[in-house]
Amino acid sequence: MSSQIDHLLDETRQFPPSDEFVAQSVSSPALYENAAADREAFWAEQSRELLEWHKPFTQVLDWSTPPFAKWFDDGELNVAYNCLDRHVEAGNGDRVALHWEGEPGDSRSITYAELTEEVKRVANVLEGLGVGHGDRVAIYLPMIPEAVASMLAVARVGAIHSVVFGGFSADSLRSRIDDAGAKLVITADGGYRKGRVSALKPAVDQALADRGDGEQQTVEHVLVVRRGENEVEWREGRDLWWHEVVPAASDEHTAEAFPAENPLFILYTSGTTGKPKGILHTSGGYLTQAAYSHKYVFDLHPETDVYWCTADIGWITGHSYVTYGPLANGATQVIYEGTPDAPHPGRWWEIIEKYKVSIFYTAPTAIRSFMKIGRSVPAKFDLSSLRLLGSVGEPINPEAWIWYRDVIGAGKTPIVDTWWQTETGAIMVSALPGVTATKPGSAQVPLPGISIDVVDESGVEVGNGNGGLLVITEPWPSMLRGIWGDPERYRETYWEKFEKQGYYFAGDGARLDADGDLWLLGRVDDVMNVSGHRLSTAEIESSLVAHEATAEAAVVGAADETTGQAVVAFVIIKESYLSAHDPAGLAQQLRLWVGEQIGAIARPRDVYIVGELPKTRSGKIMRRLLRDVAEGREVGDTTTLADTAVMSIISAQVK
Ligand code: ATP
Ligand code: MG
Repeated sequence: MSSQIDHLLDETRQFPPSDEFVAQSVSSPALYENAAADREAFWAEQSRELLEWHKPFTQVLDWSTPPFAKWFDDGELNVAYNCLDRHVEAGNGDRVALHWEGEPGDSRSITYAELTEEVKRVANVLEGLGVGHGDRVAIYLPMIPEAVASMLAVARVGAIHSVVFGGFSADSLRSRIDDAGAKLVITADGGYRKGRVSALKPAVDQALADRGDGEQQTVEHVLVVRRGENEVEWREGRDLWWHEVVPAASDEHTAEAFPAENPLFILYTSGTTGKPKGILHTSGGYLTQAAYSHKYVFDLHPETDVYWCTADIGWITGHSYVTYGPLANGATQVIYEGTPDAPHPGRWWEIIEKYKVSIFYTAPTAIRSFMKIGRSVPAKFDLSSLRLLGSVGEPINPEAWIWYRDVIGAGKTPIVDTWWQTETGAIMVSALPGVTATKPGSAQVPLPGISIDVVDESGVEVGNGNGGLLVITEPWPSMLRGIWGDPERYRETYWEKFEKQGYYFAGDGARLDADGDLWLLGRVDDVMNVSGHRLSTAEIESSLVAHEATAEAAVVGAADETTGQAVVAFVIIKESYLSAHDPAGLAQQLRLWVGEQIGAIARPRDVYIVGELPKTRSGKIMRRLLRDVAEGREVGDTTTLADTAVMSIISAQVK
């Protein structure tokens, strides 16, 4: 990728942490030194310090049959005990675990003692239904406390959960239930989204109905939380109300220890690039890295911080940074049921003000949608409790980063841009806020204990100043242990490309700047080749977002007779710009702008001004669909798209 254009590298702003922040920080440069001195000893130490093992491990890593790793293999622990009981036993039972905020404005604060008791009851219900070690449980719930309690109860009895995002259709739910062979489904009648009750139970009924010959029905029971109070159909003998069986169950339940490699969950990837993959994670290594990264990346002080990660538990971010990491660390956190704009566009900021949130973790898609509306909305709320901000899910454009820091973080909070994947289980690349001087747009450095490199197609390190493919060069504790039911696909997808070197290939392009900091450039599949120059999506999108008119942009490469591929851009314009300017001629202005900022080679052939971009349900731009539009093809598989109407609207705008 030598002929790549170095626009993002012109970004030179740097923000070192304040002296005050450094002085109180839980991290220090010693973490890097210890990890570098002996990586495995470092992880063993983290695991012993952050978790409680029923049976201590003596082995750290078994990498004798790559790519199948075992971490802490002879140790035994109970994941739920680590997230709950031990905090109560340590005298912190009265600390709030969850400040839950329902979309209509109802709320509940639940302490560690209360959550522990609830999980024990649910564990007893599960066991009463014959759900135990190794069984699979599908969880299809809104963001309510019962969702977290369900995950932990499944973990407590040694079963395996598969959380399916509540916005997915009956078909998606059905294929996930079947793939895992789930014995139980935990769902709700419905939950609140965008100001109304959105039903869930009917999708479960549909997913379980109409089994043809030879199609096995593995589900024996459906446990239903009452939340939406919408009418539901009821199958006697199969369906059970949570509010009837859980309070009636005993609150005594002893957490049994399970081996470190006991499977904890299956979770499907977002489906940005194609069909989702059922990623398998296990217990001891996963919980170690979830707790470790949560503590150090978010500089957690569990006695005083109020932490809020806006991700749904249907995504890996909701697993590692709502359920497992924060609770293992005894944190107090906020969870919110609804959408950011219901019932008003300032809802998130109102919640931050109400609970005095100090650590806030969200996605660039959300930040850009707030940029589109403008700073007057967050300005109405007191956000002064915030001391640290985080970003995950996509590259964050430097302009969005600066907006986030200035408007939400009062121009003073550190921002951690965290790169990781469903497959990595936990954060891999991020600044440590008390140590690293942050750079807008760069995810920066591997966490202590993590080995990352950028290599060329043949697996050779590209070195500072160059771009290539992001690889993970050493196994890590929370790495995926496979694709559920398909070990061969696991090997092929992630390990075959650099089999000789034994590197994990992440599918993302990245560049190392002169300081050795990482800049994520987007999916390798999305890299454009214009007249022999390789151009990254992130780079051109960041340039477009740097223009005063633009809130959000997506670029794709479309086949072009003269240049091989041509850059085609889709942009969303800020409301404040539209109210003060005539958008006529703006597309041409934006073309020229990119040309000036990056170079003529990157100038888009076409710029389309659109109202929306196609996104996955976790908020990532699906460029492959835009490529279909740009090349005049029929739009491909849209099952993981959040709003299926978007594509026909965009197609119409483009014609
Ligand atoms: P699929 O694998 O099915 O296409 P997906 O890759 O979108 O879906 P996830 O595991 O949720 O599913 O997302 C991981 C991907 O998100 C990463 O590979 C990367 O492309 C992107 N990503 C996550 N965090 C960041 C970040 N901080 N900076 C840049 N990209 C990020
Ligand atoms: Mg992926």
